[in-house]
Amino acid sequence: MGQVLSFDALKQQVADGSVDTVLVCTVDMQGRLMGKRFHAGHFIASAWEETHCCNYLFATDLEMTTPEGFASTSWEQGYGDYVMKPDLATLRPVPWLEGTVMVLCDILDHHTHEEVPHTPRAMLKKQIRRLEALGYEAKMATELEFFLFSKSFDEISAGGFRDLTPISAYNEDYNIFQTTKEEHVMRPIRNHLWNAGIPIENSKGEAEAGQEELNIKYAPAMDTADYHSIAKHAVKEIAHQHGHAASFMAKWSHDRVGSSSHVHQSLWQGSEPVFFDPADKYSMSDLMKSYVAGLLKYAPDYTYFLAPYINSYKRFMKGTFAPTRTVWSVDNRTAAFRLCGDGTKAVRIECRIGGSDINPYLAMAMMLAAGIAGIEEGLELAPPMKGDAYEGTGGSIPGSLIAARDRMMNSDFLRAAFGEDVVAHYARAAEVEIEDFERVVTDYEVARNFERA
Ligand code: ADP
Repeated sequence: MGQVLSFDALKQQVADGSVDTVLVCTVDMQGRLMGKRFHAGHFIASAWEETHCCNYLFATDLEMTTPEGFASTSWEQGYGDYVMKPDLATLRPVPWLEGTVMVLCDILDHHTHEEVPHTPRAMLKKQIRRLEALGYEAKMATELEFFLFSKSFDEISAGGFRDLTPISAYNEDYNIFQTTKEEHVMRPIRNHLWNAGIPIENSKGEAEAGQEELNIKYAPAMDTADYHSIAKHAVKEIAHQHGHAASFMAKWSHDRVGSSSHVHQSLWQGSEPVFFDPADKYSMSDLMKSYVAGLLKYAPDYTYFLAPYINSYKRFMKGTFAPTRTVWSVDNRTAAFRLCGDGTKAVRIECRIGGSDINPYLAMAMMLAAGIAGIEEGLELAPPMKGDAYEGTGGSIPGSLIAARDRMMNSDFLRAAFGEDVVAHYARAAEVEIEDFERVVTDYEVARNFERA
């Protein structure tokens, strides 16, 4: 799709008064857009070059606390600034807000102007560069599943998160009538994102009451991560504009299925899809087989980046289409990795481990690193799993955040691909989640133990 709004075009729009606000954003560890709202006049005069943010933005949790134990920032170091460097190639309109455009930023060290290695865009960039050095480009697509609720975020929060009534009453998988009832939210989501230069393919009802899926056309990995973050943000904002909440929590009720974010991936040399080999039984090139073998071998090491919260692990349940085993299959939705498009140039591998709560930059950086390791190690791919993967054998996906954190901390693969400091940073982020949860008495414990213990 290419650049949707040039800097010159923005200057024109500011001059004619059609734009007055620029959202200058970065994407934090949790995958959220964070930043400032600039007056467009100031942005085009000077802030387009750089602005600043506090460095705690990349060492915090969903609650924006200031946990201890991060080497990159602390009270002791005085919580200084990072440079937010606008990437003008990401400049685009925000059609659901009046007179507004947005730009995404890279995060640089204040003194050296080097990219900060643990920031999500920098982590993905590093793996894209490694792949480029091998002569390949990754094209990827993420699917966004989420739930729409009858009430707004504010109403649900005021009610103590008790009245979680989905916008519709029954399983709406592929259901046109049911999703027609949601068109007042979904149609503006598709159209506004399209007009923001995000190549929306479709939305569809998913396999639960109130569950929707948004599909975006595959693109180079960095574009895909940008599209995902902006689309997730837009879904929440546009739902909010219509008085509804949209949740990307991986599992909001143990009685309902969870929400996923499947990631499709293929490698290319120019316009040549190098995963495709028509002579192979499954039309997979040797390159693809090694890449997929790498994805499988290191899946437990990088599961944290596909399931970053305590809640994320509640999704991995038998019979829910969320995987439990690190096996691959030919078009079989019970496996962690599913071969799609076999027999065609669109042959690709879909990773089904990630929940809707992923940070797409981190998830994709991990998968590229694992695929690269598979290629560099010349790994052989075992035959595909057949039948019901839940009942089969094969490696297991770590079953809890604690198990995933332990795998991450002990991973030589992650240290080699991302560096010791980056692994230590995310191990601390995982610990923060675990420590916080362990300190809280949950509704479950009170209901179970209050009288009977
Ligand atoms: P599903 O059956 O999983 O819903 P779809 O046919 O809807 O599969 O495709 C899912 C995603 O795969 C879409 O976002 C599409 O753009 C993407 N996709 C198609 N071809 C490729 C490819 N060669 N590489 C990566 N992603 C691709």
